[in-house]
Amino acid sequence: MTQKHTRLLILGSGPAGYTAAIYGARASLEPVVIAGLQPGGQITTTSFVENYPGFPEEIAGTELVSRMQEQAERFGARIIYDTAVSVDLSVRPFVCTLDSGDVFSCDALIVATGASARMLGVEGEAALRGKGVSYCATCDGFFYRKKKVAVIGGGNAAVEEALYLANLAEEVSLIHRRDSFRAEKIQQDRLFNNPKIKLILDTVVEKFVGSEAEGLTGLALKNVKTGEIAELSVDGAFVAIGYEPNTDIFKGQLELNENGFIVTEAGLPFTGIKGVFAAGDVQDPRYQQVVTAAAGGCRAAIEAERYLSLSER
Ligand code: NAP
Repeated sequence: MTQKHTRLLILGSGPAGYTAAIYGARASLEPVVIAGLQPGGQITTTSFVENYPGFPEEIAGTELVSRMQEQAERFGARIIYDTAVSVDLSVRPFVCTLDSGDVFSCDALIVATGASARMLGVEGEAALRGKGVSYCATCDGFFYRKKKVAVIGGGNAAVEEALYLANLAEEVSLIHRRDSFRAEKIQQDRLFNNPKIKLILDTVVEKFVGSEAEGLTGLALKNVKTGEIAELSVDGAFVAIGYEPNTDIFKGQLELNENGFIVTEAGLPFTGIKGVFAAGDVQDPRYQQVVTAAAGGCRAAIEAERYLSLSER
């Protein structure tokens, strides 16, 4: 176990964390980034990114984020491949304990731990993730132009994804476990009036069918009322059953909303604790895009630099 101090500690290595590291390093703060359980963050689960400005050709999610890492390291950020398991924000400097047992104290903290798409947890899902099973229509929908896709869920996200995909795909099936939707009325009206979307209600996905070589080929479905089993042939399936922000270690220390996202001042990275900033999906249930996460990382680092220069004066 080692105990170290850094002026700026960044938790999370997705676009928000690395952008914060680039800005923090260029401000000579020598930031330390704790990469977390999924180095590179959620974007590494997306096959290709085509909506991040500056890359007119597609770029693999993994490559985009590894370039961000390289850029941060070039300016002096240090990446630690470990996970924060607890923080103490009631003391100064703040204290963060890692899975390895190492402890970092820091004068300013940027929380960029992201959110994880909730998985259905059924057979085939993990193996076919990124090979036909996706968690983001804005990211991956384009690859299913003129193809058959399914969306699973009944909230705003699922309905939005189905409507978005209806503009691209040949056929969209929306599979929901009940016969009424949680989504807003206006979205439901759009859904019901869209002739391209077929509703498959009272139905759950029991299995994602396919192989790693050929990708997803279909879904094994079960009607929960009749018990009827069916197979639906699809090229892509979008699971939209909610996101879970990675905020467990901040419970009781930072203000979280009812869905567990960190509450910040609107459009700003400030949490309720001076010197602790939040950026990216961990505080953004709404946009969840690479570009918005990167922008948040930039804002958080600029504010951390201002905070440190004022408090160290
Ligand atoms: P959500 O509102 O929590 O809806 C999740 C949906 O997934 C529900 O319909 C739920 O079914 C279903 N579901 C959950 N677990 C499931 C499982 N294991 N198997 C099958 N279905 C399952 O999540 P969300 O749509 O991602 O939205 C999250 C938050 O962001 C919400 O507050 C939402 O309003 C907000 N949001 C807003 C906008 C917007 O304003 N434009 C867009 C997207 C999201 P049940 O209905 O049966 O529980």
